[in-house]
Amino acid sequence: MNKYKIEVASPVIGNKELEYVTDAVRSGWVSSRGKYINLFEEKFSEYVGAKYSSTTMNGTVALHLALLALNIGKGDEVILPSLTFISTANAIRYVGATPIFVDVNEKNWNISPDNIKEKINSKTKAIIAVHLYGHPAEMDELSSLAREFGLFLIEDAAEALGAEYKGKKVGSLGDVSIFSFYGNKIITTGEGGMISTNNSKINQQVNLLKNHGMSPTKRYWHEVVGFNYRMTNLQAALGLAQMESLDSFIIKKREIRASYQRLIEAKSVVFQSEENWAKSANWMISIKLDPTKTDICRDLLMSKMSEAGIESRPVFPLIHKMPPYKHYLVDDLINSSAISDNGINLPSSCSLDFESIDYISNVVNEALEE
Ligand SMILES: *Cc1c(COP(=O)(O)O)cnc(C)c1O
Repeated sequence: MNKYKIEVASPVIGNKELEYVTDAVRSGWVSSRGKYINLFEEKFSEYVGAKYSSTTMNGTVALHLALLALNIGKGDEVILPSLTFISTANAIRYVGATPIFVDVNEKNWNISPDNIKEKINSKTKAIIAVHLYGHPAEMDELSSLAREFGLFLIEDAAEALGAEYKGKKVGSLGDVSIFSFYGNKIITTGEGGMISTNNSKINQQVNLLKNHGMSPTKRYWHEVVGFNYRMTNLQAALGLAQMESLDSFIIKKREIRASYQRLIEAKSVVFQSEENWAKSANWMISIKLDPTKTDICRDLLMSKMSEAGIESRPVFPLIHKMPPYKHYLVDDLINSSAISDNGINLPSSCSLDFESIDYISNVVNEALEE
């Protein structure tokens, strides 16, 4: 299946998962109703500290629903980083709005509040803060900008379940938040997503839209054009079991990161920094090469790792450089470009053992010291 000895991100699935999914299958509630949906949503709300959580088919449709629930559409502008996974921008396009790309902070790699103000005009409706690779964005500064200009603040926390901003879990720090449970995310339901909010109107709208727009009180009566974006009970059973291991995943990921930071000694490497106000979920532990300190480029380092049986990933290419987004006018995003050109995601799975981290660190050190 995979040529690598060490994979970049593989899920950890145990007996609890097998037990709950088997129970869901045996119960006959295999579709999008059943007890595990409610249990998963309740447990999730409690964990992130939000009043409401609503399961979805995946993180991308969660973003789509969040924008629809905020009534964002044609003629509106939404501010986001260019350094993120494509879904963040695609969802803006799905609703007919215009993405406005801004640069990120060079240390924590997240959208930089300093670059936002000059982009705000009468069309601006929202800011999407992506907690990249598990590190929270600067939420206080973003919230005060949103408040000052009457904008919605959306958290794309797809990569950051369990991360903390100033002691509070991400997922309840803006108007609405989304999560992903794809196979390589912090927890998985195969495919899956969640929308969390403290706002009952947003929650109602999300639930209406994801369920064909069907009236909650009158069956087969549809007030709006909705979607079928629901999660199944089988997936929710998997998700509930994963939630029970989440704290241990977060602890393990901190240990993995600490080991890499201790063992990777090459002077030309900097880690995505963890700010003193943040606790990263360490979804992908990520480094950036400093091209002034090494002759080896990112792609050569990755191929040396690959030869040693180690899978790694390049940091996301910038969205505004890809064909569907090329026609959007964007300033030079200096920090984003440096990170995107020189960044690597190291193997970060909770299933990694410390011997492997030692081995990976040695391969990186040796490649860069040649
Ligand atoms: C994974 C991811 C998504 C989308 O999630 P899917 O469940 O794969 O649709 C959205 N935003 C970011 C930043 C992601 O990493």
